[in-house]
Amino acid sequence: MEANGSYFNEGGGQDGPFDRLREECGVFGVFGYEDAASLTYYGLHTLQHRGEESAGICTSDGHTFRYHRGMGLVKEVFDKDRLASLEGDRAIGHVRYSTSGDSRLANAQPLVFKTRDGDLAVATNGNIVNAPMLRRELEQKGSIFQTTSDTEVIAHLIARSESDFVTAAKDALRQLVGGFAFLILTNDKLLVASDTYGLRPIVMGRLGDAWVFSSESCALDTIGADFVRAVEPGEMLVFDAMGYRSERFAPVAKRALCSMEFIYFSRPDSQLYDVNLHTARKRMGMRLAEEFPVEADLVSGVPDSSISAAIGYAEKAGIPYEMGMIKNKYSGRTFIQPSQELREQGVKMKLSAVRSVVEGKRVVLIDDSIVRGTTSRRIVKMLRDAGAKEVHLRIASPPFKNPCFYGIDTPTSDDLIASTHTVEQICEMTGADSLAFLSQPGMIEAIGGAFTKEASGGLCLACFDKEYPTPIGVSANMTSCGC
Ligand code: SF4
Repeated sequence: MEANGSYFNEGGGQDGPFDRLREECGVFGVFGYEDAASLTYYGLHTLQHRGEESAGICTSDGHTFRYHRGMGLVKEVFDKDRLASLEGDRAIGHVRYSTSGDSRLANAQPLVFKTRDGDLAVATNGNIVNAPMLRRELEQKGSIFQTTSDTEVIAHLIARSESDFVTAAKDALRQLVGGFAFLILTNDKLLVASDTYGLRPIVMGRLGDAWVFSSESCALDTIGADFVRAVEPGEMLVFDAMGYRSERFAPVAKRALCSMEFIYFSRPDSQLYDVNLHTARKRMGMRLAEEFPVEADLVSGVPDSSISAAIGYAEKAGIPYEMGMIKNKYSGRTFIQPSQELREQGVKMKLSAVRSVVEGKRVVLIDDSIVRGTTSRRIVKMLRDAGAKEVHLRIASPPFKNPCFYGIDTPTSDDLIASTHTVEQICEMTGADSLAFLSQPGMIEAIGGAFTKEASGGLCLACFDKEYPTPIGVSANMTSCGC
């Protein structure tokens, strides 16, 4: 896998050259491993695609917290000496992406607090929908917030509680509405929790006698840990000197794992419950070929996240798969974005069409999603400029029409092209010869596994069908990630 962390995120900001969706954060935790910081470093490095703006690790040896956070990629924030200084057999780590205005060190995680009961560190992935309301209430009671991050809310809720730490954490988690996966560290305990819908994934693994936790299973593979299971919705795991126990802070509300994890966010080598991501994406491509066949000479995928679906489409359609587009592997974070003028001149920072492959050919181009439509228009033009005779755009997910409130950075409905335009209009705007989206039932079936056993597929599909699993009130935290 790529070392520069640009695996899926096309970067460039919402106004940048590529308007991809962005996962907000990744978390990784360790309990009971001598050099927990190094293990966390490798875990975070594997999760880099989930957040490139900041990284942090907090460790404990059972008595003392040590932590470091910084802006930048994991490999930029940590070096050998820094890791060596983070002693301890337990650790939590975090990679974060944020919109530029909110991208500051104070919000980098893990957040670390001093409470009357000792040190407390928190790392989260996701978004707390009712955070603004809880924050107002806490401030009225005298809490002073150090950051603009929603994650701080849980620390204040725990700190204000009269109960013991585990009870306080359960009470605090019960008050949160939204999609989140939490790692909470004290000197003697590590808590791991998932929201009551299971919106944001977190899995546990075993490495010898140690326990490890990760937003995605691919990070377990990197460090040689065995996958044990996913943390269940509403479950809180408690690790301490006594071993570990599973507690419930709330019953399962309704399973609603983010379907975009399957479509786009997670790495293809990750496993969500019983489903491998590459295999699910390949099935989406196959189903897309069944639903929307077209006569063509070759199938190509927008790298990297659409490659699996493109392979599936090609296999089902009996059309050769070709590498019609190449991604620049070293463009994950570019501090100098091309000016509008250079962009118009075709400066290709991130993707290029392969002329010798597409020239004179009818191309089926598979993409995982269309957000604002600007990426699709540029890619279609790129292929035409390289001599493609026809470009048929096939999208391996339904039209993305509604913003996300659970930790994914999405534009408002007005800027989501599928919210304001018909498929025909989008096709015309992108300049493609034809355009089709995978149906929602087709997508659920393609994801497969346990997800087909429930009416909703056990998935959150709100960005497609507006059926938000949680209440979304007027005070909803709509400003992207709350990590
Ligand atoms: S609204 Fe969309 S992006 Fe957000 S959690 Fe649900 S499926 Fe995922």
